This record gives sequence, structure tokens and C-alpha cells, in this order.
Amino acid sequence: PPALVWLRRDLRLADNPALDDALRRGGPVVAVWILDPQTEALGAAHRWRLEASLARLAEGMEALGARLILRRGEALPVLRALAAETGARAIRWNRLYDQTARHRDAAVKSALREDGLDVRSFNGALLHEPWEVETKTGGFYKVYTPFWRAIAERVVHEPIPAPSRWPAPDAWPVSERLADWAMAADMRRGAPALAAHARPGEAEAQDRLAEFLEDRVEHYAADRDRLDRDATSRLSDALAVGELSARQIWTAARPRRQGAKAKPVEKFMQELAWRDFAYHLLHHSPRLETGNWREEWDGFPWRDDNADAQAWTRGLTGEPLIDAAMRELWVTGTMHNRARMLVASYLTKHLMTHWRVGEAWFRDTLIDWDPASNALGWQWVAGSGPDASPFFRIFNPETQAEKFDPDGAYRRHWLKGAGAEAFHDAIPRAWGLSPGDRRPAPRISLKAGRERALTAYADLRAAR
Ligand code: FAD
Repeated sequence: PPALVWLRRDLRLADNPALDDALRRGGPVVAVWILDPQTEALGAAHRWRLEASLARLAEGMEALGARLILRRGEALPVLRALAAETGARAIRWNRLYDQTARHRDAAVKSALREDGLDVRSFNGALLHEPWEVETKTGGFYKVYTPFWRAIAERVVHEPIPAPSRWPAPDAWPVSERLADWAMAADMRRGAPALAAHARPGEAEAQDRLAEFLEDRVEHYAADRDRLDRDATSRLSDALAVGELSARQIWTAARPRRQGAKAKPVEKFMQELAWRDFAYHLLHHSPRLETGNWREEWDGFPWRDDNADAQAWTRGLTGEPLIDAAMRELWVTGTMHNRARMLVASYLTKHLMTHWRVGEAWFRDTLIDWDPASNALGWQWVAGSGPDASPFFRIFNPETQAEKFDPDGAYRRHWLKGAGAEAFHDAIPRAWGLSPGDRRPAPRISLKAGRERALTAYADLRAAR
């Protein structure tokens, strides 16, 4: 009988432990991807990116004579039905670590086991499982540097090569059609804008990794914070849908850790380890996703959604660097890491708005949305998270611009140049903006915003 593989955010053939295990059983393999209510509740841009990736994966499978089976509905009944149709007695999948997925998967696993099925899950997403990395006293790490020290030299297994053949079942189960789903039909921006920037697919991701390590990594340490340079790998969206595994990146970078490019390669591996660190934290303290990690922040007078925050989402704060970055997000579905830190600081400090408002906007608009990195990134900047930047470190967008966009190229591109045109093509009518509109005046001066935030912070500390 065939083995089933339940694919989720691991849309690749190479280094896919669940798929590999199913293939090793020697019999036919049927891979299914399920559009379940939990997946439908994810952000629109992320769903768009998943859809693009599914199309590419289906092509890759067809080249091996296999079919990707698509089904819609709650995962458990879909898997049960598929097991009944195919006679499968074994199901494999790679683990996810956010709360929603964990609850669903635990329930699915125990129900299928009660049915008598052989169910196994694997680590396909992380360098190390969150529970494999422990402090000397058996706890989990709350600070990045010791976490890094604990994993820097740890063995990461060689990635599994892509299968060269795929044993087919006697008959392929029926599949729904991806096009019929229109998975991101509710996305409020034009998909063409995203399509012009994203390069979905496992092969593209591998090419991008190779090109980065060959040609660009040497500038990574010096230039990764420069908004006006293409100095980072841009692999985050491929990682988010699992077209590439962290293990593949780590093991490709590892041999270059010695030699001429040792320093920038080490830096790159450290950044990649932040992703594992975020999952380590999320696994051990799930509230990272939902509320202030440090509970004393529950008393901070952050505002919920408000007119200033809405202006922020639309790139209309009047602060050139902030608005440029928010436009980059709207058009490309990604944002430079330094810019993410700056817009997050501006929203949570100058505009005194809860980080959850920004986190939710990113969740809906990022093609590289990642439950752990997004939550950690926001709480890190806001000051409420583990190993966070202290709240009183309030970024000044003007001095940051002088440092990281010294000639103004990034701002010009998004506020006046081709980026501005692309932005105006991609915004919904409801926003009521036209290209000729004058740039708004700042909603609050940098000085007044900073003082207001620092006063609130002093009050929070005094109240403790
Ligand atoms: P590179 O610099 O080339 O790094 C390589 C890989 O390392 C990245 O692809 C990413 O997987 C990982 N990485 C690098 N920096 C970080 C970091 N600070 N935290 C976690 N992982 C990191 N990243 C996401 O993937 N999804 C998110 O939803 C997300 N939300 C963020 C929100 C905020 C407020 C902040 C400050 C950061 C967020 N990040 C998020 C982290 C970071 O900005 C992106 O991973 C990075 O910009 C992706 O670009 P790159 O692939 O070129 O990165």
C-alpha cells in the first residue's frame, strides 16, 4: 500500500525528511497538500506565495511522473478519506511549531494513530529541534549569544538529495485544481506587483543560494544594513514556504567558514541562527506569538489601531524613510531587515501603537511571513520580548537614513522613482491616493514622539 506525505510549509523535493522516509519504505507514495481553515486564515501575501510555490512543486513532481494531490477541508477528515481511498497505512509529515499548527497536528496525530495508522513527523524546518538545544541546567535559552554558542559548532546533518524516482500508486487519487482555489483572491494589492518581485520555486531558491554564496556573501558583514544595496541573500520567502531548508543553507555555507570569506560567512550563519532562535523561543514560550513576552508590558499605554497607524500602513506618516519602507513592503511583499527595525520602532515608539498592530500588518502583507521571526522581531524592537532592545533605544529615522541610505537612493526610488510608480499601480482605490498628491507633513515631530514615548516608559518603570 502507498504511504501518504502531508506537505505543508515544506514545499520542496530535496532535503524533505518526511518525503524521504515515505520513499524509503519502497512502496508507492502519495503527497497531499490541504487547504484547511487554519491555512486559509494565514495572511493574504503568504497564501499568494504558497500558491505560487505549490504550482512549481507540482511541476517538479510531474517531471518525476508523480502528482501533487490537492484537497480542501479540515485536515483530519481529508487525511482519513485519502487513507481509505488509497489503502495507505502510513502517514508522514514535517513539523510546524506555531500554536495553531501544533494543536491541529497533535489532534490529527492521535486520531490517526487511534485509527491504527503508522504516523511519524520529522524536523524539516530547523537546524535543530527546539528541545534539542538546552542550557547547562536543562532550561531553554532566552538570550541569543549563548544560544549561538551552543549551536555554532553543533553537527548539522548533510541534506538529503532530491529523489530521482517516485513510485506511483496504481491510480492517482482525485485532486482539486489550484487555479479553482484562488487562494489569495482577497489580497488587497495587485498580485502583478508581487509577481514581478518574487521568484518562487525550489530550483530558483537553490540558484539564489548558490549565487549569493559565490558572488555576494563577501559584502554581507559590511553591507547587510545598507538599505541602498542588495547585500543580503533574499532567501526568507523561500524558507517561509520551505522551498529551501535551513539545513541546506547552513551546510552550503559551512565549508566557507574558513578562508577568505570567513567573517561574512560566519555573520550570515549567525543571522540564519536567529531563525532557529525564534523557533526555540516560540516552542518554549508560546505567548511570544500572542502577547507581551514580558508581562510587565501589559501595563504600557500602547494604543490599538488608530489613524496614525493607518497612515503608517499606507506609507503616509510623512517620515521619508518610514514611508519608503512601507511602500517597499506593499509592492514587493518583503522589506529590508534594517527597515523592518526602523518602521517597527517608529510605530511602537513615535506613534505609541501596540506592536501587535504592526505584527498583524506584516502577517498579512509579507511573502516571507514567519510566525516565529515576525513575533520575535516585533517584540524585540518594542522592548517587550526576550533579549529585546531596550525601549529607550528609539531609532531616529533621519540619522538612520544618513547612515544606511547615505545618498538617498532608497528613499528616492520609493518616493519619487520607479518604486513610487509601482506603488501607485498596486494600491487599492479605497485608499484614495493619486501620484500627484503632496507628501504629508509628519503626524508628530520626531522630538515630540520620542519624548512622549520616553515619558510613558518612565511612568511604567515608576509604577513597578
Ligand atoms: P539575510 O540577511 O540574507 O539572512 C538569511 C536568513 O536568516 C533570512 O532569510 C532569515 O531566514 C534569517 N534571518 C536573518 N535575520 C533574521 C532575524 N532578525 N530574525 C530571524 N531570522 C533572521 N523574517 C522572516 O523570515 N519573516 C518575518 O515575518 C519577519 N518579520 C520580521 C519583523 C520585524 C519587525 C523584524 C525586525 C524582523 C523580521 N524578520 C522576519 C527578520 C528579517 O528581517 C528577515 O528575515 C530578513 O530581512 C530577510 O531577508 P534576507 O533573506 O535577505 O536575510
